[in-house]
Amino acid sequence: MRDFTLIFGCMFSGKTTRLIEMHQYSSFDSFEKIAIKPLMDTRYAAGSVNTHSGIQLPGHRVSKPEEIPTLINQHIKEIFIDEIQFFGDSIYQVVLDLSLQGLRIVAAGLDKDFMGNDFGPMPRLKQFSNNHIFLKAKCEVCGQPASFTYRKSLDDTQIMIGHKDLYEARCETHWKEGMATSR
Ligand SMILES: [Zn+2]
Repeated sequence: MRDFTLIFGCMFSGKTTRLIEMHQYSSFDSFEKIAIKPLMDTRYAAGSVNTHSGIQLPGHRVSKPEEIPTLINQHIKEIFIDEIQFFGDSIYQVVLDLSLQGLRIVAAGLDKDFMGNDFGPMPRLKQFSNNHIFLKAKCEVCGQPASFTYRKSLDDTQIMIGHKDLYEARCETHWKEGMATSR
């Protein structure tokens, strides 16, 4: 029986904050849980999971999904993975294997890129998860609930690490409006 919670939404929707809260309120002791984040996200201090608002959670940074099983010792019962969309398609098999071993997994990720397309492994992970937490941000234009990420730059590379300098949360109407006028 799998126990996989996937927290997803656009940028600035509070995904990492929710992940950290779930880590804090988990019934397991600190030596029984582990936090993991892809190495490529260099926005914040190495060796921890951070939110935009500065809350931190000590964790491991790994460069590829295959490294995750090597971090799991016999005490670990729960795994928290942030920015899971950056791990690429092979994260799916790792999540599957660890779930089959009876580990509880909580992951947070961006479901769509700035073009509105599914982000890498997210659709399969959504399908595999048995608990969905869909978070919304606030549209930068109108203040309504937002589930799209708008990129202010014209560069079309899918992965561009940035913060409020580069991205905005927008509702569907204002995301479409922005895409139509800037491209
Ligand atoms: Zn709006």
